[in-house]
Order: sequence, then structure tokens, then C-alpha cells
Amino acid sequence: MQKLIDLIKNKDLTGGEAWSAFSAPEKSKRFERKNVPARTFRFSVEEVSTYKALRKDLQVRLFDDCVGSCAYCRRPVGHYGWAWHIEHVIPKSKYPSMAFELSNLTVGCVHCNQWKGSRVDKKVTNKSLPIINPAMPGFIYSEHLSFVQISTESLCFAKYSTHSDPGIETYDLLSFKELERSYAINGMHAPTAALHERLTRVMSASLTTSKGQELVTLLGELKSAIYRLP
Ligand SMILES: [Zn+2]
Repeated sequence: MQKLIDLIKNKDLTGGEAWSAFSAPEKSKRFERKNVPARTFRFSVEEVSTYKALRKDLQVRLFDDCVGSCAYCRRPVGHYGWAWHIEHVIPKSKYPSMAFELSNLTVGCVHCNQWKGSRVDKKVTNKSLPIINPAMPGFIYSEHLSFVQISTESLCFAKYSTHSDPGIETYDLLSFKELERSYAINGMHAPTAALHERLTRVMSASLTTSKGQELVTLLGELKSAIYRLP
């Protein structure tokens, strides 16, 4: 790992590039940045296999630490739940030196990971998040948010309650309203659920680009209109 940490220290790689070299390792990694000539970095067979093994260990450890649920929304992830990413609580884009700090890593479902990347990471100052910080020592989720889920054979409803300012910000910035709606709509009407799912995917894919924000707003309004259909 020291090689990647040194490459960050020397500003040869950004936090995101170093993380990519670790999480999707190859013998040759090419990185392109705006206004910087493309650069290629080489990694030995041993380095590639070490990164792969370490990543697997890390995934198992984080999954166990989070008891198989997203650190932000607490929905189940993994084989019987939602897809998830290794989540950098303090963003590696702003604080590259924290890219490989174990205490800064947790489990984030795709929904939370994407909304946090789009709406929260740029607001982080002095390593302080506007939303809950699940990596903070002594952090207790229920002091900020609680989550009730009621299921029957054909319906499922979920509702979050907020108990603190960071909890309110988490609900708002990570768009937990979307999660609540997804639960309800998925149980009600299959074709509407499929349309809802497609819109959600396009919105998620558009979140990462600045131009996409307009599309996200538009599709969000369209989705809201679906919820109001008789
Ligand atoms: Zn989540």
C-alpha cells in the first residue's frame, strides 16, 4: 500500500486515481485528467494480486463491522440486499491522504454513495460532514435517525424519523424520501415500479455530471408526478 500512499503524497495520483489502482488493479493503469497529459503507471503481478486480496479482506471486514447494512440508510446490502461500495466517509477527492485510512472506510449502498458524492462531499470542510458521520468514534445511529419498516405479503412501507440536525441533513441530502417512495411503489404496481426503477437508474447515472443535474431535477419531478397518479 505504501507505493500508492507515496504516489498520493507526491501528488502523482489523486485520491480517486490511487483508489482505482487499488480497487480495480491492473499491471498497467492509465489516468487521464483535464489539462494534464495522460499518465500510465505500472504495477507488478505481486502488487496486483496483493491489492485484489486486500480488497477482498477489506470488503469482508467492513461488511461484518456494518452487520451487512449501509452505514447511512441502514438498508441491508450484499447477496440478499442492495449493491454496495466501499465508502470513504471523509471524501478521498478532497482529502486524498485519507483514501487508505481504515477508520475512514465503511459500507455505503449505491443510492447513498451516489447522492453523498453528488451533494455532500463538496460541502465537507475541516473534515467535518454536514450529515451523520458513521466513522466518528462513539457514533450512535439512533441518536440521529431511526427507521421503521412494515411489510405484508404484497406491500412494504418504510419511514425514517430524524432526531438531530445531522440526521435531518442526511434525510434531505441523501434523498431518503426516494427510498421511502421506492419501498411503497415497489409493492404496489409492477409496471410503475419498473418505470420508477428505470428513472432512478438514469437519475443515479446523471448525478455525477454537472450537466446531468438539470436532468435529475426534471426526472425527479416526473417521478413525483407518478406518485400522484390516481
Ligand atoms: Zn444507503
